[in-house]
Amino acid sequence: MRPIAIVGAIQEELAGLKQALQNTHTVSLGSRQVTTGTWHGQQVVLALSHIGKVAAATTATALIERFDVSDMVFTGVAGGLGPGVNVGDMVVATEFLQHDMDASPLFPAYEVPMYGRAHFPTDLHLTQSLKSAADSVLKNPAQWIDMDVLRELHVHTPQVHTGLVVSGDRFVSTTAESQDLQARQPKALAVEMEGAAVAQVCHDYGVPFAAVRTISDRADDSATIDFSRFIQEVASRYSLALLGTWLGARAIT
Ligand code: SAH
Repeated sequence: MRPIAIVGAIQEELAGLKQALQNTHTVSLGSRQVTTGTWHGQQVVLALSHIGKVAAATTATALIERFDVSDMVFTGVAGGLGPGVNVGDMVVATEFLQHDMDASPLFPAYEVPMYGRAHFPTDLHLTQSLKSAADSVLKNPAQWIDMDVLRELHVHTPQVHTGLVVSGDRFVSTTAESQDLQARQPKALAVEMEGAAVAQVCHDYGVPFAAVRTISDRADDSATIDFSRFIQEVASRYSLALLGTWLGARAIT
């Protein structure tokens, strides 16, 4: 059975997922350690990509080449951009774009040279199944997370959104930059630093890819507040709940 790759950028988040795996083995992959194991009876390879597009692309490539993974799922946090995309919400990506790709005037801004495209869609089937798992987790968040913590972090009724996510090699943490990005990419729901790179690698190899991000900040002047607490107490629990629900449903279909 070909394994499913689960990739995340942040150590604290991956630590929780690692505990859910059974029959684990640690394998070196370049400078990284990846964990293989089973979860709901399925073979899984869990990898920490580290932060940024290059780190994410090399991780994705190595996982495909070394483990011949059948599917790739990225989980992590992101800054909310679109109106109504708030801290504590989840965004399931339908497509990705690199907001810092610009080879103009040789190619249109954002287009990845030689690919003839700026947008890289995620796999429809995988994305729909992740969205169903996200809906079911957020229907009853109290089952997974201490609601007092959510209230303290000003999260009230977390929502699931689906749409465009943009990636680039910068942590967007000023209101001016966030507004500029929204003006340039009005359809973007969220900004992060890895997804578009993994989408491009999966496009190259024909590997189905999907991604889900928990909104940790609004990519504005308050973007760095309580970041690590949010990851530990909210995002990593969401991702454990979401991926467990998703793999559980996959096991019976
Ligand atoms: N303080 C963190 C740094 C995280 S960098 C640490 O010490 O690990 C940001 C990570 O979260 C990246 O993986 C990125 O994909 C995502 N992210 C969350 N909010 C973001 C934002 N506003 N802009 C860009 N990336 C963001």
